[in-house]
Amino acid sequence: MITQIEYARKGEITPIMQEVADKEDISAELLRDRIAKGQIVIIKDHQNGSVPAGVGKGLRTKVNASIGTSSDIVDEELEIRKARIAQENGADTLMELSVGGDLDRIRQRVIESIDVPVGNVPLYQAFCEMKRKHKDPDKLDEEFLFDLIERQCADGIAFMAVHCGINLLTIERLKKQGYRYGGLVSKGGAHMVRWMINNRKDNPLYEKFDRVVEILKKYDVVLSLGNGMRAGAIHDSSDRAMIQELVINCELAEIGREMGCQTMVEGPGHVPLDEIEQNIQLQKKMSGDAPYYVLGPLTTDVAPGYDHLTAAIGAANSARYGADLVCYITPAEHLALPDENDVREGVRMAKIAVYIGDMVKYGRRDRDRDISKARRDLKWEEQFELAMYSDTARAIRDSRRPQQEKSCTMCGSFCAMENVNVFFKDDLEKSPKK
Ligand code: SF4
Repeated sequence: MITQIEYARKGEITPIMQEVADKEDISAELLRDRIAKGQIVIIKDHQNGSVPAGVGKGLRTKVNASIGTSSDIVDEELEIRKARIAQENGADTLMELSVGGDLDRIRQRVIESIDVPVGNVPLYQAFCEMKRKHKDPDKLDEEFLFDLIERQCADGIAFMAVHCGINLLTIERLKKQGYRYGGLVSKGGAHMVRWMINNRKDNPLYEKFDRVVEILKKYDVVLSLGNGMRAGAIHDSSDRAMIQELVINCELAEIGREMGCQTMVEGPGHVPLDEIEQNIQLQKKMSGDAPYYVLGPLTTDVAPGYDHLTAAIGAANSARYGADLVCYITPAEHLALPDENDVREGVRMAKIAVYIGDMVKYGRRDRDRDISKARRDLKWEEQFELAMYSDTARAIRDSRRPQQEKSCTMCGSFCAMENVNVFFKDDLEKSPKK
């Protein structure tokens, strides 16, 4: 299969590029040129069943929602409902991260149930199957791993987080700096580190990176270079192990795109607000502007139950400084497997956050201006139409109806707008002077 980056390098604009360019309101030529340079990827399954998501320079910041069973809770129907809820609430991509139940069947059902492109982490299933078969994840052999990656790609996975950047050097950095306050929080990363130490071998996904790329290229699956050393604690942010892996991932991103594979790099994790800008600048500079996929980041460790908020603050800032795809975080983060409501809240919070970031990144203010005018003029229906999640806004107003239809129960007859608008009646439809 010719990949989108290969088409772009030949100067061709494919129907998928045109579709993304129209949706993003940028010229197809500019989009093609950025794909050719590896600055934009188009995430879409090879069976053409999903809506393409453009990720990268100059495009709207996208939101990913992750779902999947755990070893404790295996409820396939619940995961399908969560996938649909994520899509209904605006997720642009979805990662299926199951580690319990029939993993092949769950993956196929999730792909069939929604229109957004589905990604995954192949190491999860690889280590799961070794635990089931041999009761020992360290029995994983590389032929099994590469065959599994191919099977998942053939099933219609559109992007894949592959932990290629963990190697012996990365582990050496981790050992030399001392362990961490937050340990290792990447499931795939932690299991690969354990596998490498127990088997006294380097990571086959790093050593045979060419083979990973060739498999993904065959199906034009976007390679997302996984962040196995991401900090899981504010105090570990930007430590040497994390930066070592970032350097390696940026090198691999260059190799991946040179080989004709659409490639992006994954980022943290837990990052304090004052380190977000430098983290994004570092990734962009070292990777030659490869699309950056960040997990929030969470901006404090002290608010479990509200981590969708701590991550939304990070997401608004990371979008502002140039991140291209943000993974949502739900209120259940660090506490439990998310339920349907957690997924809904997580997606909404992340979408609002990246919208705020994009307002600064692209200087967009039109929708805010329009809703402000509708609010000033007490045009409730217009406000709801412009609201990101009008069902919630409408439900709150309807649950506490005002005595005077125009105002709301916040100020009632003391409605500031109603009391003053009357003096500016003739000016209401005019545009402000600036
Ligand atoms: S009542 Fe108060 S809050 Fe409600 S619309 Fe009027 S000014 Fe705004």
